[in-house]
Amino acid sequence: MQELKSTYGLIGYPVKHSLSPCMHNTAFKALGINAAYKLFPLKEGELAPFFEDLKVESSPIFGLNVTVPYKEKVIQHMDGLSPFAKKTMAVNTVVVQKGRKFIGYNTDGPGFLAHLSELGFDAGKKRIAMLGAGGAARAIISVLCLIPECPESILIYDIDKEKADGLIKDFKTRFDVSVVQPVNSVDDLNIEISDLLINATPIGMKNSDLCLIEPELFHSNMLVYDLIYNPEETALLKLAKDRGAQTANGLGMLFFQGVLAFQHWANIELDQNIKDKMRKSLNMRKAL
Ligand code: NAP
Repeated sequence: MQELKSTYGLIGYPVKHSLSPCMHNTAFKALGINAAYKLFPLKEGELAPFFEDLKVESSPIFGLNVTVPYKEKVIQHMDGLSPFAKKTMAVNTVVVQKGRKFIGYNTDGPGFLAHLSELGFDAGKKRIAMLGAGGAARAIISVLCLIPECPESILIYDIDKEKADGLIKDFKTRFDVSVVQPVNSVDDLNIEISDLLINATPIGMKNSDLCLIEPELFHSNMLVYDLIYNPEETALLKLAKDRGAQTANGLGMLFFQGVLAFQHWANIELDQNIKDKMRKSLNMRKAL
């Protein structure tokens, strides 16, 4: 870790629901590092001034996570990108290097894949349906297209069709996305024959949010994965579970992406016992 009394944190809006502080502050404490992870809610127009302040040599901030709605917008403030962030063009982790240079990483994709693997789900040759074509979807689609045995299909529905079209057009310039296809409606996602449904929209974060899928389309041979982890069980997950589907919320992904982000900041490999403490802190917070 670069400095004692360093500050790390999450930028985005809203951020108050985030469980990242408890996970990272647990790791700092367990490693005996005098640093703190804070939340930085940034409203529209506040991103550029934030990065201007970050350039100041005396700034205590040495690393950031990035969430909605800045994963793509933050790229213009980076001095460099990791190879995977360059492929996805979405950044969720920023490392502040010497000379206040900002390097962008994406740990969402590998974090998602690590959780899928823990759940025993192999995405190779599977039919995948995706809700949302934003920053998180970019990372997940990229990582799924890069696994040795590619999925059979990845259908994407976004409320803004141009966004899904734009994502494919953009990705085509950098890697093979022949299996990825934007669709015009939720019905076209073919959920009834999908092996995996991923919710990469913020719909479900509010308790009043309704499920975007007709419940009768869920079936017992599928995994329904909601990136949302707060609330623990969204309407989507509840209805899918009621119909016999395997379900998972995004807490596992949060954990794995957080471990990878921490390792980038600290430039170390975390021991299993530190990772266990980080995960336990998330599970305890979720129970509150
Ligand atoms: P984002 O960049 O804002 O993307 C969300 C996308 O969903 C946008 O394109 C949005 O379109 C679209 N959308 C909104 N309502 C929709 C609807 N009814 N039907 C279809 N598409 C709709 O957000 P993100 O960064 O990708 O994050 C998405 C979600 O994943 C958030 O809830 C976030 O908290 C969660 N997440 C979790 C983890 C984790 O570790 N568990 C990691 C990353 C993200 P508009 O822009 O037109 O509204």
